[in-house]
Amino acid sequence: MKIICVGSNYESHNKEMNRLVSPKEQSPVLFLKPDSALLKDGKAFYIPDFTNDVHYELELVVKINRLGKNIAERFAHRYYADVSVGIDFTARDLQNDLKKKGLPWEISKAFDGAAVLGEFVGRDSLSNSVDSLHFSLLKNGECVQNANTSEMLFSVDQIVAYASRFFTLKIGDIIYTGTPAGVGTVNVGDHLEGFLEGEKLLDFYVR
Ligand code: ZN
Repeated sequence: MKIICVGSNYESHNKEMNRLVSPKEQSPVLFLKPDSALLKDGKAFYIPDFTNDVHYELELVVKINRLGKNIAERFAHRYYADVSVGIDFTARDLQNDLKKKGLPWEISKAFDGAAVLGEFVGRDSLSNSVDSLHFSLLKNGECVQNANTSEMLFSVDQIVAYASRFFTLKIGDIIYTGTPAGVGTVNVGDHLEGFLEGEKLLDFYVR
């Protein structure tokens, strides 16, 4: 399986990162993580030794359940049924350095444990559509990210359609759909809890 991620998909996050250009008129920013980046089942996240500034980014995650290529946006909703929240961990110091040099920033995003995954729930079990889901992150009991998927610049269906032009989507592939404002550093001992529509789907510690 592969992990497809979207960058710069919330205006609020782009502002806090001083990205002045809205990507709305352009295309979604995509990058991949290998399956070795996955961290599930509430396992602890260990801060790697190559960074001094790992940021959490809470995101809505969808799981692909059908094989698809060149999917039309109007049919994209048929390609995922389960959703969750996850954390796109980012070694921000490494990423900034690589960006400055114009180099690919994979190692700052795709390292072991950098894709934390919550428990999946059926989309149909939720009372709101995938385009209006509330999600939030508690760090040590304090709310640090709080947003709604309606704020996404590119919708889940647009992302699925766009990504499938380049990558054949396979059953079990996972898409991280971008983070809203409120990203920040994690430290050893931090407790992170992620919620979707008020339900806790993610709960783990930083070591
Ligand atoms: Zn992200």
